[in-house]
Amino acid sequence: MFEQMEKGQKVYGNLLNGEWVASASGETIGIHSPVDGSLLGSVQAMTREEVDQAIASTKDCIPAWSALPVYERAEIFYQAADLLEQAAQEIADLLVMEVAKEKKSALSEVTRSADLLRYTADIGKSLEGQAISGESFPGGSRSKISYVERVPLGTILAISPFNYPVNLSISKIAPALIGGNAVVLKPATQGAISALHMVEVLNQAGFPKGILNTVTGRGSQIGDYVVTQPGIDFINFTGSTEVGRHISQISCMTPLLLELGGKDAAIVLDDADLDFVANTIVDGAYSYSGQRCTAVKRILATDTVANRLVPKLKKRVEQLTVGDPRKGNMITPLIDEKAADFAQSLIDDALKLGATLVTGNRREKNLLYPTLLDQVTPEMKVAWIEPFAPVLPVLRVKDLDDAIALANQSEYGLQSSVFTNDVNNAFYVANRLEVGTVQINNKTERGPDHFPFLGVKASGMGTQGVKYSILAMTRPKAITLNLQ
Ligand code: NAD
Repeated sequence: MFEQMEKGQKVYGNLLNGEWVASASGETIGIHSPVDGSLLGSVQAMTREEVDQAIASTKDCIPAWSALPVYERAEIFYQAADLLEQAAQEIADLLVMEVAKEKKSALSEVTRSADLLRYTADIGKSLEGQAISGESFPGGSRSKISYVERVPLGTILAISPFNYPVNLSISKIAPALIGGNAVVLKPATQGAISALHMVEVLNQAGFPKGILNTVTGRGSQIGDYVVTQPGIDFINFTGSTEVGRHISQISCMTPLLLELGGKDAAIVLDDADLDFVANTIVDGAYSYSGQRCTAVKRILATDTVANRLVPKLKKRVEQLTVGDPRKGNMITPLIDEKAADFAQSLIDDALKLGATLVTGNRREKNLLYPTLLDQVTPEMKVAWIEPFAPVLPVLRVKDLDDAIALANQSEYGLQSSVFTNDVNNAFYVANRLEVGTVQINNKTERGPDHFPFLGVKASGMGTQGVKYSILAMTRPKAITLNLQ
């Protein structure tokens, strides 16, 4: 049963060894839409024994899958990409209702994932192995040759967050599978229906049974359990820093790749084109209501720049459309009311401590209107904490070095932007920022997907991006020939 109607509701199974199955627990978890509260369907609350089965079933298929020539593995990826494109409208409609994503962005999440499947197959085929002659190291000789190839790690546990249930699952699954691994996917509960639909598309493409299994359930039952199982050879996690830290603490010696939270700064210099800056920052900060790890989460500018920039930002923020994602609005309801309460608490704290409300701070349940705060100071929580909501603080700095120091004071280090037309200043800033990526004259963002994507400090560990992810989820194996 991929999906089955029970009492007028859709109930989704989990993919286990090529079959969609219900949990023996008899329990399901209802998934309600953040858009209108409607019940969209239910997913299984799996038991720990079923998690064990999901992990165990991957083990039997890895030898045959990893022995298959990579060009044959790649053929399944091309088929999967075509099928995903065919299903794009349907999956995008699910994303609109399940995670309140505006339709165009939802569609682009799915088509980008199809592109990623094709590109991953191409890159997988290009990792051809390498022969190294022994002669270049002192004492070595040509009679020693090492053949170095990449081999899979085994069973990869992929854990994805709610905000990109399709893309952030595929960007783990595809590089893992092309590298010859098997995957157990644990999607976020909110987003699981969209993710399971995507998995069913992959299943139709002809991946062997058991090479991709899914687990869903209650955090208290299977959360810590799944990450601590000895059958898991690698954990590829995207989500909050709090959960990432917890997983790294309990997972002992299982290697990890963590993509976590951020507090991306946009540093605006006085020679920048402020109309361009305002347009770009508003897009970067408020698209998908700020629920993006790489959203612009603070602006750092001197008084001279901020006095000119803030009115331009205000004008554009007030033009953003707010409401139902089905109607193409950019600002849509947050994932739940708890998320809106949290963002509201950051706004309230800032206003209490003297920040200026430029626009916004209006609320209807989980719908928070785009909010711009000026004169935010380091004592305020919103200067440091990610709201994961349409809330953007402006912090006034003394000069460029002050901006760099404030940017680096954050516990996070995902990305930063610098806006300037002076290439020397751009590199002066970029070279000093402690982040994974610096964007010169652009908003902070992930992609294109073959670029390295990583966070430093509390923003993560390890590097994603198609080739980097394949390398992270494979290891070199050296076979050394000793000629007589
Ligand atoms: P979250 O940390 O609450 O959940 C992420 C995933 O972890 C979900 O699937 C959840 O079910 C699972 N999980 C929670 N506790 C677990 C446990 N003990 N064991 C195993 N799995 C567990 O994050 P979220 O609210 O879904 O997503 C928002 C966060 O993700 C933000 O902090 C955002 O910055 C971050 N994020 C980071 C990136 C990145 O690439 N750096 C991308 C997107 C989102």
